[in-house]
Amino acid sequence: MRTFEKSNKLDHVSYDIRGPVLDEAQRMRANGEKILRLNTGNPAEFGFLAPDEVISDLMAHAVESEGYSDSRGIFSARKAIMQYCQIKGFPNLDINDIFTGNGVSELIVMAMQGLLNTGDEVLIPMPDYPLWTAAVSLAGGKAVHYICDEQAGWFPDIDDIRAKITSNTKAIVLINPNNPTGALYSKDLLLDIVQVARENNLIIYSDEIYDRLVMDGAEHIPIASLAPDLFVVTMNGLSKSHRIAGFRVGWMVLSGEKSHVKGYIEGLNMLASMRLCSNVLAQSVVQTSLGGIQSVDKLLLPGGRIFEQREFIYKAINDIPGLSAVKPQAAFYIFPKIDREMYQIDNDEQFVLDFLKQEKILLVHGRGFNWQEPDHFRIVYLPRVDELAEIQEKMERFLQQYRR
Ligand code: PLP
Repeated sequence: MRTFEKSNKLDHVSYDIRGPVLDEAQRMRANGEKILRLNTGNPAEFGFLAPDEVISDLMAHAVESEGYSDSRGIFSARKAIMQYCQIKGFPNLDINDIFTGNGVSELIVMAMQGLLNTGDEVLIPMPDYPLWTAAVSLAGGKAVHYICDEQAGWFPDIDDIRAKITSNTKAIVLINPNNPTGALYSKDLLLDIVQVARENNLIIYSDEIYDRLVMDGAEHIPIASLAPDLFVVTMNGLSKSHRIAGFRVGWMVLSGEKSHVKGYIEGLNMLASMRLCSNVLAQSVVQTSLGGIQSVDKLLLPGGRIFEQREFIYKAINDIPGLSAVKPQAAFYIFPKIDREMYQIDNDEQFVLDFLKQEKILLVHGRGFNWQEPDHFRIVYLPRVDELAEIQEKMERFLQQYRR
């Protein structure tokens, strides 16, 4: 019988968040075992409900959303996104610079498909949100990882970025606020990245899907606002801030100088038309979501769920001997480090798999985020504090078997 393999376009693509560890978790759940899932950044799954206004708007727009829309998106959504970005200081925008997508995910793939030829290089943070690396590889490009330095609060290492630029480098990606580290970048750091991009004629891609999930009174600065003379592509969406990951609504904004990227923008318009349009009903809630008070804000203040869960997990992790973590300032992830002088761990995926089997807690291993050493894992701290409390005791006990 003729057999069918995956295409060779996928040979160099890896996407581990949904990998063997998750398969085991699914098997265990199918057997009726209760698992604490600290692996997906899906707020709705943990009782974070969408604002009522979003749901009622969605229902009100059902009938008028039956048809396809403009391939870049409906007018009200794109106008609201444009105004949201203008208020945040994005330069040189008009409505045709806004593309809606079925989540940021679709737009990341589209943006890389439209840009890369075989062998083109893109600088990607390490650790990363792995879709960026996968999308570059799928498009025939080469992901070149630059170090985010844990000692420096997980900020990108500018010297490492500079050292990794070659004549094939076309673009640099940043994820700010960051998944998996929870870091929020400072203006000085962003200015340094802009300078590197300027000197080397790079396009900047900035994934800012967590821009509304910032704590401690800090402010998110979009890199686009600091780079009027460069071409910047910014991604954002409602999956996290409005707890509607399942609706699939994201957008991509082209800002700054565009005279040298006309051909690329033509390609993006072609790709957008090929998928006809993104989910029209989901687009219909963008205007409501971005206008007025951001309902996520109260979750991020002292007393709010995300804030209190962050405080809890940060202390819980740092109280375990041989584990340490930088305090996240944004999003809802923490990326702890395991001291391998204290614990003999050579395979972080196996470590996470064994933790799942023994303690019934599901995490993602650091190498799933293209981190090179087997000494990190990511926790999604969306579950309530009473559930998060399980991790401290169980992890401390579990680690004992790896003691040197
Ligand atoms: N970018 C980052 C940094 C993410 O963490 C995620 C989801 O976890 C996405 C993009 C995908 O978002 P969407 O639901 O809009 O596809």
